[in-house]
Amino acid sequence: MKRETLRYVLLLAIISVTGIISIQIYWFSRAFDLRNKQFNQTVNVALRSVVDQILTYNGRTIPQVNPVEQLSSNYFVVMVNGEIDANLLETLLVNEFKARALEVEFDYGIFNCVDEKMVFGNSISLVENKRTKPKAVNLPIWEDNDYYFGVMFPNKQATLLNQMNIWIFSSAVLFIVVLFFAYALFIIFRQRKFSQTQKQFINNMTHEFRTPISTIQLSSAVLQDPALIKDTERLNTYAKIIKEESNKLLHQVENVLQVAIIEDKKLRLKKEQINVHEIVEEVIQGFKVLLADRTIELDLKSTNPIIAGDKTHFSNLIKNLVDNAIKYSNEHTEISIKTYDVKNRIVIEVQDNGIGIPSSYHKKIFRKFYRVPTGNIHDVKGFGLGLNYVKNMTKIHGGQITVESQEGKGSIFKLVFPKAYAS
Ligand code: ADP
Repeated sequence: MKRETLRYVLLLAIISVTGIISIQIYWFSRAFDLRNKQFNQTVNVALRSVVDQILTYNGRTIPQVNPVEQLSSNYFVVMVNGEIDANLLETLLVNEFKARALEVEFDYGIFNCVDEKMVFGNSISLVENKRTKPKAVNLPIWEDNDYYFGVMFPNKQATLLNQMNIWIFSSAVLFIVVLFFAYALFIIFRQRKFSQTQKQFINNMTHEFRTPISTIQLSSAVLQDPALIKDTERLNTYAKIIKEESNKLLHQVENVLQVAIIEDKKLRLKKEQINVHEIVEEVIQGFKVLLADRTIELDLKSTNPIIAGDKTHFSNLIKNLVDNAIKYSNEHTEISIKTYDVKNRIVIEVQDNGIGIPSSYHKKIFRKFYRVPTGNIHDVKGFGLGLNYVKNMTKIHGGQITVESQEGKGSIFKLVFPKAYAS
């Protein structure tokens, strides 16, 4: 998929998902408001019926004005302005709520109109399974004064939400669909990135292989010239070119193979006791030609630098780091390799004062195929596999790798391994 198309797909996806979520939120809140209004109205009617019955019982006239007032979303007061029999009130409340299928928990209180003090109160639950038996069996009757009563629904929100199961279910389904959608987009992006890195890798590989192969082809074509057989000096030169270029090819193939080996789960390390200092010195020896113009400093201070590991892989690991130190620096760079001990561990530091790595890439460089985008800064070819191999091999050897680097200043790759013997 093209970058532009993908951008449109993403934009459309965001717009449609936002739209669907907003519509769901809008309808959900509308439905909740509706339930809330219905609840308030039902309670109002029930309380009006209760007060009418109390007034009739007391032999009073029923007022024209509604004596029920809603003070907050879950609190109602009812002005009786006369005596209240608590027993009667509780029975009427329970009956009226039940008659209107109000399966709720509620608290009620009887208040004195003069000093606003509560003279009696009780909590009742009409919720299925939690139903409480009315306690008001021998409740007193308040006479000689004017009273009002208040009813509160402490779990009103929860009760309303309980009645909206279908909405909650549809919201949950929507949530899952959105998650699935986001996951699908994530996969598309990941796949795209993967195919891009793969394309880049193939480009790199073709370039890296084509150059030495062409050189070898040209040199061998020259060697076919019968006149050249007598010119030993030229013969030697071309033979040397072929050797160098085939060595380069071998190095590239090894690079790719290194990663393939690690991915092959059957990788078996030939573990033995290896001397880190010996390996470092061997590696440096192998880089002698490439290191000719550079200063290389060895500061090997670890005592008893023996670890349990696979000699070939461990040596490749150090080679990769030194190779990078050379590749990503100019000719007069200083490269230093240090070892020292920290408790029962050996620390190996490979340092260069080359081009360095901006901190935003420090984690990414260890990923497979990852190469720091360089723009015009340098044109070093590679597959982005070396550090991935180094990291995996370090892990397999029970070690850890970290990088400290600053753009333009240089880099330090620090490896820590457990020693074979405690020193
Ligand atoms: P390759 O060198 O083949 O590109 P690596 O996995 O060895 O792959 O390195 C990944 C990237 O990390 C390189 O492309 C380079 O940008 C950066 N890098 C690695 N080592 C160094 C170093 N010593 N100095 C600066 N950049 C480095």
